[in-house]
Amino acid sequence: MNLLALPAFADNYIWMIHNGAEAMVVDPGDAAPVSDALKRYGLKLTAILVTHHHGDHVGGLAALQRDDLPVYGPAAEAIGGVTQPVADGDIVIWQGLRFVVHDVAGHTRGHIAYFAPDGLGATDAAPLAFVGDTLFSGGCGRVFEGTMDQMHRSLNRIAQWPVSTRLCAAHEYTLSNLRFAQAVEPGNAALAQHVAHCEALRAAGLPTLPTTLATELAINPFLRCTEAAVQSAARAHDAADTAPASVFAALRLWKNTF
Ligand SMILES: [Zn+2]
Repeated sequence: MNLLALPAFADNYIWMIHNGAEAMVVDPGDAAPVSDALKRYGLKLTAILVTHHHGDHVGGLAALQRDDLPVYGPAAEAIGGVTQPVADGDIVIWQGLRFVVHDVAGHTRGHIAYFAPDGLGATDAAPLAFVGDTLFSGGCGRVFEGTMDQMHRSLNRIAQWPVSTRLCAAHEYTLSNLRFAQAVEPGNAALAQHVAHCEALRAAGLPTLPTTLATELAINPFLRCTEAAVQSAARAHDAADTAPASVFAALRLWKNTF
């Protein structure tokens, strides 16, 4: 299996998995990058996964639609073109790969993630997940429709996956997120290292994604709400107390205007 990040718009990635003959894509906000990749590699599109209803994730559905093409998406959101509504605990099978649906509401009310505990097969078995706009490297999605508590719980849920899990997020927001992360935790050595790593990747025109859960647990302030340094930074930005939920909400509000 091959995993590709197809760039779309200014900073989206449409994730594609293919085996040389068939392909699956996640959140095709635009059909053109998908059609180009299908042509370039000689692939047939045989499944689409959607994480949430925003236009930059579903805008390409109409153009890619076919009667025999299953389109999985959150049952809790009305999305034109979704043929297989799925909810927490449902399992999507494609080419023998298993994706478990996780409710990760917060960015939108029905946002879901697709977690593949066995990765992309026997030769590439590290777990992998498509997390949409819930978690980014160094940051997390804005809380548009859900509540702060919901988003915090969703991130905690992701944090329970194996640390080797590869996290395929839908945006290349990493460098700007890391600037915020450094404002929160200026003394975090792992963070400084990750900044240098990601700057080198971007300078070479490469994606900083997928990231891993192990990396994010070490550098992403939104997953570090129980760390003393993160708590005191949040306290200095209006967190009511050091409860992780209060710290998370204060960080998210601070980041909105950073
Ligand atoms: Zn979104």
